Amino acid sequence: MSNQETRPLLPAANPSTWLGVMGGGQLGRMFAQAAQAMGFKVAVLEPSKDCPAGQVAEHLVEAGYTDAAGLDALASRCAAVTTEFENVPADSLSRLAQQVFVAPNAHGVSVAQDRVAEKSFFVSCAAKSGVMPAPHKVIASTEDVDAIPDELLPGILKTVRMGYDGKGQVRVRSREDVRAAFESMGKVTCLLEKMLPLAYEVSVLTARGHDGSSVVYPIAENVHRDGILFTTTVPGPNVSADCARKAQDAARAIVAELGYVGVLCIEFFVLADGSLVVNEMAPRPHNSGHYTIDACVTSQFAQQVRAMARLPLGDVRQHSPSVMLNILGDVWFDGDSNVAREPAWDKVLALPGANLHLYGKDDPRRGRKMGHVTFVAPTLHEAQRQFEAACAVLGIEL
Ligand code: ATP
Ligand code: MG
Repeated sequence: MSNQETRPLLPAANPSTWLGVMGGGQLGRMFAQAAQAMGFKVAVLEPSKDCPAGQVAEHLVEAGYTDAAGLDALASRCAAVTTEFENVPADSLSRLAQQVFVAPNAHGVSVAQDRVAEKSFFVSCAAKSGVMPAPHKVIASTEDVDAIPDELLPGILKTVRMGYDGKGQVRVRSREDVRAAFESMGKVTCLLEKMLPLAYEVSVLTARGHDGSSVVYPIAENVHRDGILFTTTVPGPNVSADCARKAQDAARAIVAELGYVGVLCIEFFVLADGSLVVNEMAPRPHNSGHYTIDACVTSQFAQQVRAMARLPLGDVRQHSPSVMLNILGDVWFDGDSNVAREPAWDKVLALPGANLHLYGKDDPRRGRKMGHVTFVAPTLHEAQRQFEAACAVLGIEL
């Protein structure tokens, strides 16, 4: 349990004071926009000047994530500090927490940033959450490779730290594959996970306040392409009422067990027999929660602001069915060529229910997340129709 749990409840932060965020990417940018809409001022700590969040924040602390002077400058300005990426060093959050309220705290973030700690945590609370992670084994040496049980193959070898968007992952069929992959990754500690036959993937966004209250958003169905989130559809066309209830109950149990304060997103696999497997969690707003900006009463970013500012959590009700499409740098290129073009945003925005969000990145590269579009409509069918039309405009194959 977190230290903050045992402390007396702090008063809410007043809008017009400063909120701080570790990291300057698009999640920090959308956090800043939500905080500013409520009247807060935002300070971002990030080493690079022209970052998506730095472009919109009132103040940028241009410093590395472990820079003591930078951390102290952030803490002294702000009424509370949060993070927009899970790889923020836990020691930095601890240093901040000596001076200012930090949510999520170092404990929650350190569990989420280490696949071994994360999997052990999921196993430890399986009795309460009702879900288990995929069968797995830690691979820290070549002896560990020799000792891999047959039933874990074929599998996926994942680095324990710093993985995202399918990076730091290799699919393996045999022990020899594992050995080669382990060596190619420089023998850093990895986790071998059994490859499961996924029927589909879902995620559940949840938020918990420092008074222990919590909210759970509607379950989201996610489609990945090349390891990167492609679409999020809510309500999910494949999701049964039973699956939704189990995933939401699991999320509630997990966030409480972690003694967590802030927004937490939990990813699940759904197998062919309908059973649920917990995959991983992100201690922050998540790409699969972007739909909440346009389709829910309270966006995940507004919820992050409320949780860290110790304000009441907001209504998670979804008012419109939605399809969120990630916009990668690929759409700035003509087909497979290197010929650059500007996507036809006028045609995308002409589609009913289209909400465009671009992150202010001026260097489109293939596979780089540049923005997203969320289609909202009175029916899911209509939102899907507009999403398909947008794919045709942008040259995205379906
Ligand atoms: P993220 O972008 O969500 O941070 P990540 O790089 O941390 O991704 P995972 O979410 O663990 O990695 O895996 C990426 C994708 O690979 C999953 O969404 C899923 O499609 C597939 N995958 C991962 N683990 C397994 C598994 N054990 N069995 C089958 N497919 C898997
Ligand atoms: Mg994932």
